[in-house]
Parts: sequence; structure tokens; C-alpha cells
Amino acid sequence: MTNNPNQQIYVMPEGAQRTTGRSAQSNNIMAAKIVAETVRTTLGPRGMDKMLVDAMGDVIVTNDGVTILEEMHIEHPAAKMIVEVAKTQEDEVGDGTTSAVVIAGELLKKAEELLVQNIHPTVIVNGYRQAADKAQDILKDLSINCSENDKKLLLQAAMTAMTGKGAENSKEHLSEIIVEAVSQVLDKTGSKNKIEKEFVKVEKKVGDSVKESELVKGIVIDKERVHSSMPKMIKNAKVALIDSAIEMKDTETDAKISITSPDQIQSFLDMEEQLVKKMVETISKSGANVVFCQKGIEDLAQHYLSKKGIFAIRRVKKSDMEKLARATGANIINNLDDLTEKDLGLAGLVEEKTVGDEEMTYVQECPNPKAVTILLRGSTEHVIDEVKRAVEDAIGDVSAILTEGKIVGGAGATEIEVSRNLLKFSESFSGREQLAVKAFSEAIEVIPRTLAENGGLDPIDCLTNLKSEHDKGNVWSGINVFTGKTIDSIENGIIEPLKIKTQAINSASEVAIMILRIDDVIAAGKSPEPSGMPSDMQ
Ligand code: ADP
Ligand code: MG
Repeated sequence: MTNNPNQQIYVMPEGAQRTTGRSAQSNNIMAAKIVAETVRTTLGPRGMDKMLVDAMGDVIVTNDGVTILEEMHIEHPAAKMIVEVAKTQEDEVGDGTTSAVVIAGELLKKAEELLVQNIHPTVIVNGYRQAADKAQDILKDLSINCSENDKKLLLQAAMTAMTGKGAENSKEHLSEIIVEAVSQVLDKTGSKNKIEKEFVKVEKKVGDSVKESELVKGIVIDKERVHSSMPKMIKNAKVALIDSAIEMKDTETDAKISITSPDQIQSFLDMEEQLVKKMVETISKSGANVVFCQKGIEDLAQHYLSKKGIFAIRRVKKSDMEKLARATGANIINNLDDLTEKDLGLAGLVEEKTVGDEEMTYVQECPNPKAVTILLRGSTEHVIDEVKRAVEDAIGDVSAILTEGKIVGGAGATEIEVSRNLLKFSESFSGREQLAVKAFSEAIEVIPRTLAENGGLDPIDCLTNLKSEHDKGNVWSGINVFTGKTIDSIENGIIEPLKIKTQAINSASEVAIMILRIDDVIAAGKSPEPSGMPSDMQ
């Protein structure tokens, strides 16, 4: 074959797009800044909420950074990377999602100013890296110890997380519940404290007011007992957790049974009945008086179980089964024949209650439960959903404090202190790298500035006052967003876990660096949709 020099060569499919150099960079930075700008107005106690309406017309009213970004279904690739920052923050801490995104946006904004001055991205990246590392050290030096006995600080941290959110009005009551719940599931075995947040189950029920929300020392399950003649309430419950069906097993293959006489039908039915009866017998012999089954319980089994006075629930979610195991101390049993008394868990009281207009099952008074439930109440679905998000933020904060044992002050105090120290640090650099470290230091100021702006205050005045307080050595001086005066954040109970700040700065700088290093965007054209399949199913 001969090569034709005039032949066009396609290395990418038709419809693919490519942007390179400065225009790729500014495109990406612009997209990232837009994302940060969107959530910025929600930051802090005086941040506003957003109403999100999806394609089905469903409405969410929220102040929560990660929820807003998830619901926006962002498509731009660089903007998506910023959304990832919020998600990481949510997974790692549970709170501080807006701050992380706002810092990432500001880091990129400052970087762009340097790019315009013809400073090479690798110089900026290098400066940012060093500044980010230094910021971690500054934060650690600044933080104060807090143990599980400092209940007041834990309560204040929970309240700080809920300030300015839907849960604000009941934050005292809710923070008591949250601190007690998280302390209950704290695992102190080994050298490090561990908390698995999913073992604080947050269940919601519309009706009543947020103040009626309660902590249940055990698990609340959104289900009712399978048979109405079962007891509604069992004291001193012995709980069996079974993850196989309590019914006659279906044959694996389709079987045809030829029956030639009526006797045979009867004996077939009898055999089935005997089998089911035996299963119930095994349960009752173990001493269980409450059964949670992950699969089905057939009618006949329901009948026998209720005759034995056993309380049973079927089709319990796997995640709930695990929580029940943690709360009651029961083992989840695969094969019914293996069930013995040792596998049973304990609960002082198992009870079916009507909450709102639905039945729920409370498994409570468990001796030393390692899983608990916060049952939230609220007047409408929208109210309760937003309360739930705020409560989950607070659970994240209290967990972070109990695992790491470190706190810092909020209201912009920590950020100003980090920024000041980074500015000092920048003096150890020369030339362009110094500019990059300085830019990083200024970017961190975006948090107090935004808190002031959202409070309707003059950001320049606020920042000047704050800085002069910090110059005097008042490291915890922050903004009172209602008056604009400076206050001592720690004394005023504005407490946050160290982890919020380290994680936010860490992931924000990583994503900013990643975006800055891109100078070529190659996007494949959209592949044609196969007919008959909705686009979101692909
Ligand atoms: P995020 O998603 O980042 O947690 P929030 O809307 O929860 O966003 O706002 C958190 C910010 O609000 C933090 O910087 C925190 O220090 C600040 N903040 C919380 N409570 C107060 C308060 N009472 N006064 C001033 N700032 C506060
Ligand atoms: Mg928050």
C-alpha cells in the first residue's frame, strides 16, 4: 500500500472536540468558578437557601452545598471535578461542603490572575502544593484538644453545624440527641476511637414538630408486624435475625407433579405444612420471641408464628438487619437450622407504634446498643428533609471530633489565622513562587469574606477588624455575622472539628492543582443513543 500525502487522517471520531492552551485553561477555570459562585450565597448562618426543582417537578429547599450540586446534574467536566470536592468532603466529614467548594473556586480565581501575568501553571501548582502542605501544619498547631468528656464543646459543635439551617429552631434539643447518639456508637477498642456513622440511623416521619424528635436506643424500622394477631408489644425481647425465607422453598426447576388421587394432594399439602411448622418450631425452640426476616414469611408460617406469640417482620432491609445486629447483639442467621439461643439478641422492648399515620416498629432499651436511631419529626416533607441534612452534618462533626480529638474555632477565625501564617510563609520564597503562595493565602480569606457578605456586612471593614485582632494575638477572633463586630469564636461556642478544615483545604487545593495542570481538553463526540432506551439508562 502506498501512502497518499494528501489523505486526511482522522485520529478521533467525528464530532470530537479539542481545546488547547490558555483557552482550555480559562474555560475550565470559568466553569469551576461558576460552580463555586452558585453555592457561595448559602455559606454561614446568614446564608440563603436554594429551591431546586427537578424534571418531575419535585422540589428541594436546601442550604446544603453537596445537595445543591448533586441536584444540578452538572455536565461540564471541570465543573464536575469541583462537585467531586463536595462529595469527598461529605464522605470524609459530612459537613463543610460549601466551604470546600468555595475555597476551590477562589484558588482557581487567584491562579487565573497569575496566569494573566504570564506565570507558568507549573510555578503556580508548585507554590499551591507547598502552601497546602504548610496549611495542614498550621491547622494542626492551631487546634485545641477535645475529648468525649467535653460535652459542652461537643454540643456547641453540633449546634454550630445546624446554625442557619432548617434545624436552627430546635438546635439545642437536637444537639443533645446527636451527641448522645454518636457517643453511644463510639468504638473505643484499640488505640484509636472509631465511629461508623451509618450506625446512627436517621429515620424521619412527617407530623408533629421538630422538637418532638427523639433518640431511640435501638433501631426504628419503618415496617409493621406481618400478622395482626401477633402481639403488638414484647417486653424482654429475644431477637432472631434471619436472612433466609421462612417458607417452602420453590423448586429450582419447574417441576410437574402428577397426582392421580385426592389423597395424594392431601399428603402433599400435609408435607408442606409439616415443613413450615418445623421451621417455626426451630425458631420457637431457640427461645426467640421476635423475628426479623430479610426475606419473605409465607402465610402459613405467619399463622404458626402468631400462634406461638412471636412478633415477626418480613423483608427487612439488609442495612437494617446489620444495624439490628449491632443494636441487639444478635447474629444474622443464614440457615434456620443453625439458630440457637446464643444467636439471639436482646431488647428491653419491641413495640409497634403508630407514628403520624403509619406503623413503625421500635426495637429499644437494648443493653449497650452499638447502633441507635434518631427519629426526626417535622411538619412537612420539605422541612424534615432539610432538618435531616443539617442533623447529618452535625453527626459528621461530632464524629470527627470524637475520632480525632481536635477542634478549631469557626466564624472565619481559623481561616484568617491560616491565611496570616501562609503570608508569613510566602516570605521564605522568592519571585513567582512567592506570588503563588501569597495567592493561596489570600484565597483562604474567601471564607470570612463570604460570611460577612452573606450577613449583609461590609467585607472590607470586617476583614480589616479581624486582621487587626489577629495581629494582637487573638487567634480565635471571628465575625459576629449579625452585628459585624469581632468576637472570640471559641468563647462564643462556634466550634468546628479540625477535620472540616484540613479536609476542605486539602481537597480544594488538590482539585485546583489538577485543573490548573490541564492544557488540553479532548472531548469525544456524543455517541448516538440506541433507540428505545432513555438516555439516563445508558
Ligand atoms: P458548609 O457547607 O461549608 O458547612 P455552612 O453553611 O454550614 O457551610 O457554613 C459554615 C460556616 O459558617 C463555617 O465557616 C462556620 O465557621 C460558620 N459559622 C457557623 N456558625 C456561625 C456563627 N454562629 N457565627 C459565625 N459564623 C458561623
Ligand atoms: Mg456546615
